[in-house]
Amino acid sequence: MKIPSVSGDEEAVGFYLRDYLESLGWAVELQKVSENQNNVIAYLNDTPRVWLSTHMDTVPPFIEPTEDEKKIYGRGACDAKGIIAAQIIAAEELRKQGIEDIGLLYTVEEERASTGAKVADTHPLAAKCEYLINGEPTDNDLAIGSKGALRLMLRTKGKAAHSAYPEQGDSAIAKLLDISEDVRNIDFPNDDFFGETTCNIATLGGGLALNVIPPNAEAGMLIRLTTPVEPILETLEKAINGRGELEVLSYSLPVRMLEVEGFNQKVVRFTTDIPHLGNWGRPLLLGPGSILDAHTKNEFVLKKDLEESVGLYKNLVKKLLANAN
Ligand SMILES: [Zn+2]
Repeated sequence: MKIPSVSGDEEAVGFYLRDYLESLGWAVELQKVSENQNNVIAYLNDTPRVWLSTHMDTVPPFIEPTEDEKKIYGRGACDAKGIIAAQIIAAEELRKQGIEDIGLLYTVEEERASTGAKVADTHPLAAKCEYLINGEPTDNDLAIGSKGALRLMLRTKGKAAHSAYPEQGDSAIAKLLDISEDVRNIDFPNDDFFGETTCNIATLGGGLALNVIPPNAEAGMLIRLTTPVEPILETLEKAINGRGELEVLSYSLPVRMLEVEGFNQKVVRFTTDIPHLGNWGRPLLLGPGSILDAHTKNEFVLKKDLEESVGLYKNLVKKLLANAN
């Protein structure tokens, strides 16, 4: 946690993890994602069937780690450096019991477009993996479903004019506000298992100066998906009705994950690297800490939850290896 690793700046933390895991006797590969970004891929035997994974990057800004008796505070405490630590401890304890059929996968860029996961999905070891236990803060419950995310940009065009003569122009911002209001009133299709589809109009931009009728405007939106993309885009296009242009920036679909007896199970609303790691066997999702504390300036994880997660990861790996063939 002392090594900053905001998305795009994960090189140092990746080198640290490589050196640390090598010192423990793991075989470690750095998989290049960009000039200064590498996924960390570590294993004990040549063809691990169960992998533990999460991401090394964090949201900005970096926050120095601190601790008291009960909690560890700072950026990455629960999302997701505490998880990396818990997974490594779990793997090392399993190893002491003679279980070496385990791999560790740590990606870059999860907090932006999962670029690291997309590259990791091309790795030859993915085909040998039967189960991928991904870590994100789920309060140590087993997440059996996660919503998808659809990232969009809505753009409107108008005509610039002197603002004293508005009839000479056409305001792109007025159009964007009208469309945005219609978008806010859309009743998006929901799903019985994944829950409600929600839309965040997250960024607004446009205009040139106070005395100019704005010729362009744009709004960035993120929709938490519980259905395929197509019905959502259809509903949006109907609401926009030709008044603006919609660009799909990226999306990930909602995912169902493996259910395992003996764990608390639930559906989570956030998305993860899992939709982009389709070649890495059947996905599971579990981690200490709360997603409500992630991405905040008070990010923390309870030490007792971290410790509990070590036992849960060990238990999961053992159950899955017993199933694997
Ligand atoms: Zn995360």
